[in-house]
Amino acid sequence: MPAADFNMHEIHWLMDMFNTVDVGLVVLDKQYCVCIWNGFMENHSGLLPSAVKDKDIFDLFPSIDEPWFRKKTESAFVLKNRSFTIWEQKPYIFRFKNYRPITGKADHMYQNATFLPLTSTTGEVTHICIIIYDVTDEAVNKLELEAANNQLEVISRTDELTKLPNRRFIEESLAKELKRLERSAGNGTLLILDVDYFKKINDTYGHSAGDKALRHVASVLRSTLRESDMVGRYGGEEFIISLFDTDVDGAKIFAERLRQKIEDTEIVVDGKNITMTISIGMAQYHSNYSQYEQWVKAADAALYEAKQGGRNQVVIAGAC
Ligand code: GH3
Ligand code: MG
Ligand code: MG
Repeated sequence: MPAADFNMHEIHWLMDMFNTVDVGLVVLDKQYCVCIWNGFMENHSGLLPSAVKDKDIFDLFPSIDEPWFRKKTESAFVLKNRSFTIWEQKPYIFRFKNYRPITGKADHMYQNATFLPLTSTTGEVTHICIIIYDVTDEAVNKLELEAANNQLEVISRTDELTKLPNRRFIEESLAKELKRLERSAGNGTLLILDVDYFKKINDTYGHSAGDKALRHVASVLRSTLRESDMVGRYGGEEFIISLFDTDVDGAKIFAERLRQKIEDTEIVVDGKNITMTISIGMAQYHSNYSQYEQWVKAADAALYEAKQGGRNQVVIAGAC
């Protein structure tokens, strides 16, 4: 084949490859006008090369974050360096629909991109090439895995019956709260709450009535607490509450209101109205507590006193 023919073929082949390759190729000049637009870009944008040629990229795609894009391309134009962006930083540069059947869950294509400086014969960077990679499969898999892990994390910290945080979560939170209080001179009060004669509810009305009673207590707790407070099911019919930034006087008012609320409300099981009461032991944070277990123990001792004192009452732990 004569050399000239071979060159023609080569160009033809290159054009073919350029238009069929499964990555986006765009060339922009310094004014951010499109010079080159390959088949991938055409297919995904629905815009023919003739429709985008010499047009401003920001006019064509108003969804491009212009300040970010200019900054990103600057290192190619000015420093003659390549730069990259991954979908975790910016999910996409060009908003294209996602048509992949397996990853139909994403409505747009996730993209990684490379910004490549293109030098003229005089060594000047006059244009840049943007290479767009469709990484939707990888992104969706990663996002799904993260979502599943988050879900598992939530489940592992949640009590199935009441949907409140479980013991594991309570213990982690108390350990953190103790550290916070050690650093700051703030207040905090811990409450342990136990349903009185709960066994009787189970024995008289059945286990599912007992479950309903526990869910009722949990819902009263949820509606009484502030966002900053922590409540969880510590085990059986015992709940722990950590009142943020609250001294024992403030906590006493809260605990009394809670005790009264439980006493005043009832649940209905098989047409029967069931009432219940709770006992509460509470302990204010003291700098002597080096471990949260000591704090829990103090509140637990107060709870024991509340039970001994006749139940349906609030007892404050004595000075430690
Ligand atoms: P007190 O006033 O001294 O606290 O007496 P109580 O009967 O409440 O205490 P006790 O510790 O004897 O009974 C607690 C009962 O709670 C025993 C256990 O079967 C029941 N229990 C623990 N977890 C659950 C649960 O998830 N559902 C139900 N229905 N019962 C539970
Ligand atoms: Mg009990
Ligand atoms: Mg108990």
